[in-house]
Amino acid sequence: MLDQFGRTIDYMRVSITDRCNLRCRYCMPDGISLVSMREIMTYEEIVETCAAAVRLGIRNFKITGGEPLSRLGCAGLIASLKKVTGVEQVTMTTNGVLLKKYLPELLAAGLDAVNISLDTLDPAKFERITGRNMLGEVLDSIDAALNSGLRTKINVVLQQGVNDDEWFRLASLAEYKMLDVRFIEMMPIGYGKNVTGISNDILRARFSASFPEIEIDPSVHGNGPAEYVRIPGWMGSIGFISAIHGKFCGSCSRVRLTSRGRLKPCLCYGETIDLLPVLRAGTAGTERKEALTAALREGIFRKPGQHCFENPEMVTETARMADIGG
Ligand code: SAM
Ligand code: SF4
Repeated sequence: MLDQFGRTIDYMRVSITDRCNLRCRYCMPDGISLVSMREIMTYEEIVETCAAAVRLGIRNFKITGGEPLSRLGCAGLIASLKKVTGVEQVTMTTNGVLLKKYLPELLAAGLDAVNISLDTLDPAKFERITGRNMLGEVLDSIDAALNSGLRTKINVVLQQGVNDDEWFRLASLAEYKMLDVRFIEMMPIGYGKNVTGISNDILRARFSASFPEIEIDPSVHGNGPAEYVRIPGWMGSIGFISAIHGKFCGSCSRVRLTSRGRLKPCLCYGETIDLLPVLRAGTAGTERKEALTAALREGIFRKPGQHCFENPEMVTETARMADIGG
């Protein structure tokens, strides 16, 4: 459907948990879960909500968290979503720690693609950034995903003075592996407010200086706002998600569903539409279906025109990124 600014909204990020097995310093360093399981949407509620979203034209879903694979039964959810008529793609964002373990189940469920977050290739730095010594598990998962033929992207968030010196090493994963490496600018959400990122303008200038032959990659790589470039001879592409220095709100096609059942129209603002009262009202049949669709329609229509990350004092979202799903 179209929102109030005429943008087509066809993509929903679905967070299935606020819990995580890592403690990334810019996301959830404390690891504290703020909600009880009762407050979290059941898988049945998630499928019902996604089916209602499909009726409004949303076709593509990204399963995220917290760490989605830390919630038992995640592959079963994906299998159920893939069976909903009208669903085109179900993909996942994961830290990769448990991906190798669950890969056979996820492939059997019909997962279409995976994004794996990886901010460093240095084991000590990995522990400093994520609070856990688990780089080996993530690297094994990347290879397992590639060997299985699953479309794979790597998400990198650079932090000044922490891992920004690794931009070239991380990008080079795309030289010999069939994957895209995407650089996401640090957003002033949650703990990210206290961490200085690197502008993708600066990063792109570094790429251009190192690879004068770099070229724009116009092919479509997914549902997101990334801009891609190709380095001749490399297997994968390099993407830039520049929420701060390359505002892409005019073409934004997404809304978010938090694990607590709140429809979140824009990452920047705290405003949400609470769907749990509708889902738990005890109604059934057409009345229930219509109430859920109406709540979603209202939230999607009211999606704000643009974020305000360039003015951090105007950002009204106070949740951590792990509670929202990135
Ligand atoms: N646990 C999964 C993972 O790490 O991919 C999924 C959830 S995580 C919140 C999704 C993405 O958000 C990760 O790539 C993470 O690096 C990114 N992220 C977290 N906080 C961020 C921030 N403040 N700014 C930009 N990206 C952020
Ligand atoms: Fe967990 Fe992902 Fe947040 Fe890291 S970025 S703490 S892996 S939810």
